[in-house]
Amino acid sequence: MHQQPTASHFIDGQYIDDTAGDAFDVVYPATGEVIARLHAATPAIINRALDAARRAQTDWAAMTGTERGRVLRRAADIMRDRNHDLSVLETYDTGKPYQETSVADATSGADALEYFGGLAGSLTGEHIQLGQDFVYSRREALGVCVGIGAWNYPTQIACWKGAPALACGNAMVFKPSESTPLSALKVAEILFEAGAPAGIFNVVQGLGAVGASLVTDPRVNKVSLTGSVPTGRKVYAAAAEGMKHVTMELGGKSPLVIFDDADLENAVSGAILGNFYSSGQVCSNGTRVFVQKGIKDAFLNRLSERLKGVILGDPQDPKTNFGPMVSQNQRDIVEGYIAKGISEGAHVSFGGKRVDKAGFFIEPTVFSDVTDDMTIAREEIFGPVMSVLDFDTEEEVLLRANDTQFGLAAGVFTADLARAHRMAAGFEAGTCYINTYNLAPVEAPFGGMKMSGVGRENSKAAIEHYSQLKGVYVAMTDVEASF
Ligand code: NAD
Repeated sequence: MHQQPTASHFIDGQYIDDTAGDAFDVVYPATGEVIARLHAATPAIINRALDAARRAQTDWAAMTGTERGRVLRRAADIMRDRNHDLSVLETYDTGKPYQETSVADATSGADALEYFGGLAGSLTGEHIQLGQDFVYSRREALGVCVGIGAWNYPTQIACWKGAPALACGNAMVFKPSESTPLSALKVAEILFEAGAPAGIFNVVQGLGAVGASLVTDPRVNKVSLTGSVPTGRKVYAAAAEGMKHVTMELGGKSPLVIFDDADLENAVSGAILGNFYSSGQVCSNGTRVFVQKGIKDAFLNRLSERLKGVILGDPQDPKTNFGPMVSQNQRDIVEGYIAKGISEGAHVSFGGKRVDKAGFFIEPTVFSDVTDDMTIAREEIFGPVMSVLDFDTEEEVLLRANDTQFGLAAGVFTADLARAHRMAAGFEAGTCYINTYNLAPVEAPFGGMKMSGVGRENSKAAIEHYSQLKGVYVAMTDVEASF
């Protein structure tokens, strides 16, 4: 059961520790057992990581894109070869079932490494002719990027940030969530093994204070955070002080709209994926499920039948398809929301209780008869709690779907193509789905509107967020001055 890493941090191509840093425990969420003890980075460790990154970055940026890409693609291959071991570790780190981690974590991290590795050789500026003179633009790295992760997808988050950063010639210092610190160390180890120079991808551990000191350090040029809106506000403000580039991947309360002409089985599958995958700990979840009145009963009945297929248990067992909350704290938060839903008059049509076993399990929970003003329909819960609301018309549901401070994702199930595209155009959300939910391929842009974020991860769009253009004016004739 012990998953103690070689040391807490990975800096300048090696594992290092500093027991002067505050100790914190890593807990296996399925049992509550302590599986590792790490130390938060002290100022000396943070200093070492940033110095290493700054030193390594210049030579890395001077390599050709193809050379950098080769390293990333080699790292992708190593990750795929070690998928089993990495998935077991990810399951210990997060409590997510191996059935999920074996297909969604190291694999999607490898996809990002492969995709941005492939793009690295074709990053360009442009040539702009101005009569005889011309301007060319150089696409240059930003410098040292800081990545700060949430606890739901630790491997994926490290790769979604690290791969485009490194492809563009940056170095990265990554701080994982203190709840799930183990997997990112493996990403650093693999990148180094694949040929990334020492110092190009470093991992330092710690709580919010370590993240905060990275964000304000003058050696840092860019900050990419995956986390909650309150943390995003603080990090964005701190980064603004130093005029740093930012990417903010924050929370959501996304709508999933099901019209009565939808394929019911697919719609139920979409709602299950969009609420109960990773026990609901997914930022883009469609937690406000708007069902048109004509099919509401049929939807709820079929959903209850399908929920009998939940296999809740030891997440390392490949048959288990539903794991615990990441921590006791998160379980308490989710239980608090369930209690609030009940006290505000929503009806529990499935689940609703803590599971009587070790670990931080909560039953998959469905509330029906939810209204727009209830707390469970307004605030991000980040647990397995689906709110089902009903509606009459397209115009009405679009207004209600957009009536939120968040704008991360949105989905629609309907057989009417024109309506599907009208809804996708009308949603105030960065990532929309038609007749499916929650897929996040590396080729597609991912990110939020409104309070859900700034910038985009994945796709070619991420390149814009990890590089900058320099314009170079070239004169071909004599300079004319007025005196
Ligand atoms: P969190 O905001 O509590 O923490 C995120 C990270 O920020 C952690 O590593 C934490 O240590 C660090 N941090 C905290 N305070 C900081 C500060 N002042 N300065 C710098 N760093 C600081 O989030 P969480 O509870 O770990 O994750 C859940 C949240 O993340 C949810 O809101 C979820 O929606 C969001 N999330 C978003 C995406 C996305 O891509 N949009 C993906 C996953 C999770």
